Amino acid sequence: MTGVAPSHYIALVRRVTKAEETLDPSRDNHRHRPVSRGRDSLQTIARVPRSQLVRDQLQKAIDSGDFGPGEALPSERELVEAFQVSRVSVREAIRSLEAIGYVEVHQGRGSFVTKGPNDGYVSAFARWLALHKEEVMDLLKVRGALDELAAEGAAQGADESAIKRIQGAHDAFFSLAQEPDAKLDRLVQLDIAFHQAIAEASGSSLLMHLLQDLNQHLGESRKITLAPSGRPAKSAAEHTAIVQAINGRRPAEAKQAVATHLAAVRTSVSDFEAMKSAVAVPPADPVH
Ligand SMILES: [Zn+2]
Repeated sequence: MTGVAPSHYIALVRRVTKAEETLDPSRDNHRHRPVSRGRDSLQTIARVPRSQLVRDQLQKAIDSGDFGPGEALPSERELVEAFQVSRVSVREAIRSLEAIGYVEVHQGRGSFVTKGPNDGYVSAFARWLALHKEEVMDLLKVRGALDELAAEGAAQGADESAIKRIQGAHDAFFSLAQEPDAKLDRLVQLDIAFHQAIAEASGSSLLMHLLQDLNQHLGESRKITLAPSGRPAKSAAEHTAIVQAINGRRPAEAKQAVATHLAAVRTSVSDFEAMKSAVAVPPADPVH
């Protein structure tokens, strides 16, 4: 990792963090100012869009699994009654859920949950990634270089207890990765724990802290990497190669195994964007 100026790194992390915040609708709440007296209070109340409240409620219900993939949402009339809002607000809420890939509207039949919550998330991420791809790819490059150094250091000098912690973290990710219904959030957590165990075994506390910081900001890209079925198992297999090289005290091989793993991660992020734009504009001459 030559020439990565800390100030540049920090600016990059800040930009991406700020952008990721916009993904979280609950953060909008910060903007609702406390209600004061008179005209001001009336304006403040008027500014809270009813459609957004309805959308948030429905989104939560879909996320928590109350409405599963393929299931119909309550009818427009039922939603108007349940939420005590206008038909226009309900329609707007449904439209925005459709825009982020949560529901599909079939004229005359109603609205249906299109996909699981992970897929809805993936769709929202596609929009975000379209705007911030360069930063994400840049962060992944830096993470790759640091992860390579960490694995090299671990293979060179990790003590037995550090090696055991890497093995334990590897086993946990590996077994979850074989489960078809593994929760995406849990997979992301265990993947971070695995890479963090290697960073801790590297013997460099600077490296460990830099990676800790970076990993906090790369949760989004990990979700993209681990969302497609079959990908967690591939990641686990790539992890095995890393662990074997570290256990065998082969630094160059450990570094190479990390490079291979991170190349696959970068490819999945860039393929993901390509896939989404291909969905928006279907190719004139599809190959498959
Ligand atoms: Zn990994």
